[in-house]
Amino acid sequence: MQKTISCGGLRPEHDGQEGGLAGGGPRRRDHGGLVFSARRAADGVAQVVFHPEDSAEAHGVAESLRSEWVVSVTGIVRKRPAGAENPNIPTGAVEVLARAAQVLNESKTPPFDLTQEGQADELLRLRYRYLDLRTASMHDNIVLRHRVVAYIRRFLDDRGFVEIETPILIKATPEGARDFLVPSRLHPGAFYALPQSPQQLKQLLMVAGFERYFQIARCFRDEDLRGDRQFEHTQLDLEMSFVDEEDVLGLIEELYTRMIAEVAPERRVLSPFPRLRYDDVMERYGTDKPDLRFGLELADLTELARASEAQALRGAVEAGGIVKGFAAPGCAGYSRRQTDELTAFAQTRGARGLLPIAIDGAATSLDTLTMEHVRSPLARFLTPDEVKGFAERTGAAPGDLILIAAGDAPTVNTALSQLRNEMGRRLGLADPNLLAFAFVTDFPLFEWDAEEETWLPSHHLFTAPREEHWPLLESDPGAIRARHYDLVANGMELASGSIRIHNRERQERVMRFLGYTAEQMEERFGQLLGALEYGAPPHGGIAPGIDRLVMLLAGRAESIRDVIAFPKTQTGVDPLFRTPAPVPPAQLDELGIAVAPAE
Ligand code: ASP
Repeated sequence: MQKTISCGGLRPEHDGQEGGLAGGGPRRRDHGGLVFSARRAADGVAQVVFHPEDSAEAHGVAESLRSEWVVSVTGIVRKRPAGAENPNIPTGAVEVLARAAQVLNESKTPPFDLTQEGQADELLRLRYRYLDLRTASMHDNIVLRHRVVAYIRRFLDDRGFVEIETPILIKATPEGARDFLVPSRLHPGAFYALPQSPQQLKQLLMVAGFERYFQIARCFRDEDLRGDRQFEHTQLDLEMSFVDEEDVLGLIEELYTRMIAEVAPERRVLSPFPRLRYDDVMERYGTDKPDLRFGLELADLTELARASEAQALRGAVEAGGIVKGFAAPGCAGYSRRQTDELTAFAQTRGARGLLPIAIDGAATSLDTLTMEHVRSPLARFLTPDEVKGFAERTGAAPGDLILIAAGDAPTVNTALSQLRNEMGRRLGLADPNLLAFAFVTDFPLFEWDAEEETWLPSHHLFTAPREEHWPLLESDPGAIRARHYDLVANGMELASGSIRIHNRERQERVMRFLGYTAEQMEERFGQLLGALEYGAPPHGGIAPGIDRLVMLLAGRAESIRDVIAFPKTQTGVDPLFRTPAPVPPAQLDELGIAVAPAE
């Protein structure tokens, strides 16, 4: 053991203790005859002082140190002289007086400055990930991730859950993305698919009698990568037998509340987590993952707009669309340039336009409102009564700015929900320390895919509809509500799950409705359908994403990549391993694969 002293654990009570410490990445400061060197080890930073009178040899070694070299030091711990303490670091009251020092390894100069966190180009950081991970914030992110997972394991073990691994080489288990395929050498022309989630496997485990299962599972989805997506993501995959919605949600609420109190106590969590119905959140926030840290709720203005002289509003209603808006408090004074900026923002999110209506703060009340107090590009088409109506519905008062969008419902909701987030940010309403969790429930079972002209499962096809909605399968599938729930926080979806169908005949009914033939059902889902015939218990589960959760808890993480040790870039490349990469022809031959020339 080269280390008997922990760098980061040094405290005044260690005064006088002798021992050895080792680590890398010294930052050297020469100070008269001394050399101060801040040693970084996995657990933190300690200051080492080299006195030529104490040990000329150690002092000589210290003088030779360069950035990122690795050394071991033996010495004696002492309190720092009065006035030399550093209150900003946990070890700031003590230092180690070096008696001997030895260089364990030298280092090339790193390609970027490890003390300037997050400044270097991300591609370079990923190319040298083993150096990037040495920076304090990346290091902390990865340790936080470990704490989260360790907590989850302890919590679930205490509640009788069994952790079970499931195969990575398996058959497509669909979550609506493209599969990653792995060719089989022993069965030329045949392929495994990497699981998009262990969904069918955990259901099989319920049939197998494991009433409480979990796994920290990797899920593989070949889909377009965005800031918060990776081809492979990690989720806490969980399934329980003999439960209904509230059993699953209650467990997750307790897990999250307790875990965050332990691993990120500086974060504020609002309890209890509200349960909100999908229809309500769509109405009030325009999205199924609302940021609930602030109000700015949307109001439906369609009926008021039906009689408007403003063609942009009335026309949208006549075309079967909707009109919605919200009040931005205290923003009546926004300049033309500022409202144009908001309009451009809404337009890049799909809206045709945005109608701002400012109600002058000089107006004493809405009842006595005249058009003198109203500023809007469409002011001459609006009446005081109409503006008053918009103000009442959106909750706007004099001094506020009403922002209105008109068009088809999905477009209006998308644009306004994002504008709402933007205004929350601009007005400083989104407390960065607060985690505003909520469960969204009662999702539609299916959504209509207009391009493919077909119904698709909103969650996945194993989700059960509300019991009383089965008859709607034939008459009004769009009206069926599912036993599907999401966990959301601060505008992000953190988990999805559902109570499942646990009977073959019913599972086939849904599959048939989605267009599967009997052969397709057997070929793709025969394993699950078969199992459902052998006394499958009622069951349900959920799968909270780990990456996004850690990103949220870390607070400072810029992207999901900052909480993954070895992530891929937005284009799916690993710059460190330089993969994906071509393979030698012999390896392809063995698999019976020929690569078609790129077009
Ligand atoms: N398999 C689902 C998913 O990955 C989660 C679940 O329904 O439990 O989103």
